[in-house]
Amino acid sequence: MKKLNKDSVVYKMSSKNEGVLKINSGEEITIESYDCFKNELKSEKDNLEEFNWDYVNPATGPVYINDAKPGDILKIEIEDIEIANQSVMVLAPGEGLMGDRVKKSVTKIIKIENEMAVFSENIKVPVKPMIGVIGTAPADNEIPTGTPGDHGANMDCKRMTAGNTLYLPVNVEGGLLALGDLHSVMGDGEVAVSGAETEGKVKLKVDVIKNAKLPLPFLESDKKVITIASAKTLDQAVEDATNNMVDYLIENYDFDLEEASLLLSFIGDAKICQVVDPLKTARFELEKKYLKNNI
Ligand code: CA
Ligand code: ZN
Repeated sequence: MKKLNKDSVVYKMSSKNEGVLKINSGEEITIESYDCFKNELKSEKDNLEEFNWDYVNPATGPVYINDAKPGDILKIEIEDIEIANQSVMVLAPGEGLMGDRVKKSVTKIIKIENEMAVFSENIKVPVKPMIGVIGTAPADNEIPTGTPGDHGANMDCKRMTAGNTLYLPVNVEGGLLALGDLHSVMGDGEVAVSGAETEGKVKLKVDVIKNAKLPLPFLESDKKVITIASAKTLDQAVEDATNNMVDYLIENYDFDLEEASLLLSFIGDAKICQVVDPLKTARFELEKKYLKNNI
């Protein structure tokens, strides 16, 4: 299987990036990743104030997928996420939803013991490794890896886990897929500006899909379909993710606008991915089992 070392990183998703590795449609690849602070914060003495923000959110890649042409869709099966034995969380004045109350920077190391992330003696939770940043190159502009959008990137969606399949747009030849910002655990919202940030390795299988129509980015788990949208405000992100799910139902099943809208209000869940990045990200989750036989 092809492997990509974590030292090939980009800080912008851009058509100008050179693919550092080529793979064929249907191939598996393992991609190593730094944490979002490029592994600079290794102990609780390493302060965020000394961190050089030029190195935030390194994304490993980009991977060039042969035969991926603008208009195609990348189907990315997340097969496995391996994480390091410690993660780091940060807090800093001005950052996150409590930013104007926080007076000092804090670096907190989260040890991973027996698949449990240790927040404190009394709070230990099972790890749920997820990918914070995963995206393709946008068509003509360059977008920092820390900004989410239609091309994916910093969506900070806690459903980006092993076993789930992500669909992303191909906007340029080869797609130029890059990823980073792994988390061992993260709550919806990522309210204090970071999850439990970790380095690690992600195993993916990537397929190029031709002539398909999906509202992107789109996620599928064994039980759910999930639309994801990012916008200036959370209100707008929720509205976009919800309308994307309505479009998905109309396009792929026998629903009209009215029936699709009612169904989403009946059993669908609008959820927050993150509220701390340059654009905010929401997702809409719908159980697949009700879609089989339609209505
Ligand atoms: Ca992130
Ligand atoms: Zn992160």
